[in-house]
Amino acid sequence: MKTTATVAGVGVDTRHWIGGRRTGSAATFTDVSPIDERPIAEIARGTGAEVSAAVQAARQAFPGWSATPPAHRAKILNAIADGAERRAEELAQVETCDNGSLLRSHRRGVMPRAAHNFRFFADWLGRLGPGDLEVEGHREQVSWAPSGVTAVITPWNAPLMLATWRIAPALAAGNTVVAKPPEWAPLTASLLADITAEAGLPDGVFNLVQGLGGEAGAPLAAHPDLARVSFTGSVATGRKVAAAAGAQLTPVSLELGGKSPLLVFADADLDLAVRHAVGQYDNAGQVCLAGTRLLVDERVAGDFTARFLERAAALRQGDPRDEATDVGPNITRAHLERVDGFVQRAVAAGARALLGGTANHALGGLYYRPTLLAGAKPGSEILTEEVFGPVLTLQTFTGEDEAVALANSTRYGLAATMFTGDRGRAGRVSARLVAGTVWVNCFFVRDLRAPFGGARLSGIGREGGTWSFDFYGDVKNTVYAPEGWRSDG
Ligand code: NAD
Repeated sequence: MKTTATVAGVGVDTRHWIGGRRTGSAATFTDVSPIDERPIAEIARGTGAEVSAAVQAARQAFPGWSATPPAHRAKILNAIADGAERRAEELAQVETCDNGSLLRSHRRGVMPRAAHNFRFFADWLGRLGPGDLEVEGHREQVSWAPSGVTAVITPWNAPLMLATWRIAPALAAGNTVVAKPPEWAPLTASLLADITAEAGLPDGVFNLVQGLGGEAGAPLAAHPDLARVSFTGSVATGRKVAAAAGAQLTPVSLELGGKSPLLVFADADLDLAVRHAVGQYDNAGQVCLAGTRLLVDERVAGDFTARFLERAAALRQGDPRDEATDVGPNITRAHLERVDGFVQRAVAAGARALLGGTANHALGGLYYRPTLLAGAKPGSEILTEEVFGPVLTLQTFTGEDEAVALANSTRYGLAATMFTGDRGRAGRVSARLVAGTVWVNCFFVRDLRAPFGGARLSGIGREGGTWSFDFYGDVKNTVYAPEGWRSDG
């Protein structure tokens, strides 16, 4: 097979990374850029054999890495962060070509955050001292021991950032990792493998198996020698991964889809609310946390909608490499058609498109116009299922009770965003919302010390700060008898 591709002028090895070596597979699959639907790389198509080899390599590396003093592990993680920062522009360019997300977002936020994930967990490791409790003279000491080989399976919408968010704490905890990157955007994971090697991470501590979900992801999730499975992706795949891991009783962390509400109360700063509402078209709507259901107090709905449409009309859609672009392409043709299917069925069922409602054929490729649908039937598909495209819905409410009822009316519970000028209301409503994260008068801000995860179908578990170590580590309580304990009594 061809073993490298040059994407945006950057050489990327398209093979697996197992035990500190590049290895290919007999078969490959084609990686296509959503910018123009051109093939950009032939990627090794891993199967159970490569997965077994990677898990074996990770098992062999585990005793050494888990016994490495935390300070030394932290030093290597910081070196990985340095490497990711040094190569941030290359990572950004490659990611944009691979998944069509905005280059300017990568430059300003996503790539720095991907690097910071390593720095943060390296730092947190130093603070994760054993917690001491004193109970009736006994001293109870809580510690986090490395747990073993961790599988990390991730999606395409923010490939490097989401992968590092799981890989960094797993490595910091003393685990070894087998990662399975998304087949629709597999390239930056390969660059990460290079960066880990340059940073001095020992062979076998981080392994990468490229491939399709059913062929490489499935045998990985089901592998009996894993200590943890960390999965980010859709609910449908999450169910399969949980079932496979469950059969082995492997603890699993699931970060899944969302259908989050964005509530606008009558006392809100409407300009702020509109700015954030239009901002939900970011990444062409391919954001798990996006507040795609706009719920607006009917007293301000007319004003809000007029301002929203005015602002949205100014959005520039086009090539994601252009700094002036606000909305790029969707990931694949099949996905674009899926997005359109949701919109057409909603319109056929009585919804009205106040904005967009079709693919942007003028641009060719995979662009879908930013769309706002009003008048959808309560409980209908467009109000309850994740579209994962630039499609928002608009509903109105008359008071807090109705706002909360609408907000909670899906099977998801990833996030919620609200705009209100009343702090008391913010607290009351937040307490009633089913969501892992609630933003008040802001969006997408999160410190890595805080927990992240979803309720209901949006996932199982929380990560961030100590929550990450609680998942990746084996938490242990050692109880010491009171001083003066003797065996001859
Ligand atoms: P997906 O579930 O199709 O794929 C995710 C990963 O799972 C890919 O690497 C894929 O190859 C792999 N996979 C597929 N079938 C598998 C199987 N049977 N066993 C093991 N692995 C398998 O999701 P996607 O389309 O890549 O991503 C979009 C979804 O991810 C959306 O639902 C989005 O909301 C969700 N997401 C959630 C978060 C979060 O933090 N909650 C973040 C980003 C994306």
